[in-house]
Amino acid sequence: MRAAILRKPLDKFYLRDIDRPKPGKLEVLVRVRAAGLCHTDVHLWEGHYGPLSVEERGVRFPLILSHEIAGEVAEVGEFVEGFRPGDKVVVYPWIGCGSCKACRRGEENLCVHGTKPLGILRPGGFAEYVLVPHERYLVKVDIDLNKAAPMACAGITAYSAVKKAELSPGDIVMIVGIGGLGHLAIQMAKKLYGATVIAVDVRDNALELAEKLGADHTINPARHDVPTEVRKITNNIGADSAIDFVAHTDTTNYAFNSLKRGGKLVVVGIGGEYANFMLPLIPIKSIQIRGSYVGSITDLIEVLELLKKGVIDVVASTYPLDQINEVFEKFRAGKIVGRAILQP
Ligand SMILES: [Zn+2]
Ligand SMILES: [Zn+2]
Repeated sequence: MRAAILRKPLDKFYLRDIDRPKPGKLEVLVRVRAAGLCHTDVHLWEGHYGPLSVEERGVRFPLILSHEIAGEVAEVGEFVEGFRPGDKVVVYPWIGCGSCKACRRGEENLCVHGTKPLGILRPGGFAEYVLVPHERYLVKVDIDLNKAAPMACAGITAYSAVKKAELSPGDIVMIVGIGGLGHLAIQMAKKLYGATVIAVDVRDNALELAEKLGADHTINPARHDVPTEVRKITNNIGADSAIDFVAHTDTTNYAFNSLKRGGKLVVVGIGGEYANFMLPLIPIKSIQIRGSYVGSITDLIEVLELLKKGVIDVVASTYPLDQINEVFEKFRAGKIVGRAILQP
């Protein structure tokens, strides 16, 4: 089968023919039709998540990237029930041990033994076929696979972060970083919670997309001081919540400083270095800070339902897998709006 191989960080991707995996008794082989490109792939390519080396986090090269995978079931193991070749599926890539309490709750993304995701610690979707360790990681779909694939990371990560912001109708939420995740979070905050959205991004084309998707206000930090603008919008009170999909030192800093008393900061991005806000303000302003890592299998089922019902939509562009090196460069340079999908 054809696969895009990353031999080591900072290298280009090599398209190679490798052996097609054979599913074991409980495993399922999926013919990949759509595989999304995520910022985590950029961090893997760079070789570090901020100050943490990816190899210290267990990543081994050569590696096949992409954890946003949709396709058709190609082959099932002897003991697999409920799936047949030809079924259209989305793959939940956040593979846990399956037996700890978190995994038993369906939150394999929080497995106490460490999640071993497809496309990060196991071969992922930038290949014609991907081996899925168990049928419980598959969700059947009957929608456009190019829109369904990004639900496996961008969709559930945005959904679970917006839930953690605990919004009530009329609350003001800042959404920092309007890319694959942020553009979904805007729609969820507005349509599921009736919140007022302030979108923040340094790219004007991302802010234009935010407005199209219903953002009430936009701020470009390259031109404006974010906390000052948020105070203007909120009658000097501050935002109820901020969701930081970038999480660089400067973004968490201005997100923190834009919050009202009792405000909530949800940190999602993993490319930053260190936080730089004033510690006494955490208790004085009674700020809650929460991290959020992807989402559960239930979250995936739910966001796919929101997509099917038209409550949310994905802005995605598609490319053949052969173009991976060009697409990756464009994505890294911030020149892709929404999600980039590669089709092996
Ligand atoms: Zn991702
Ligand atoms: Zn577990």
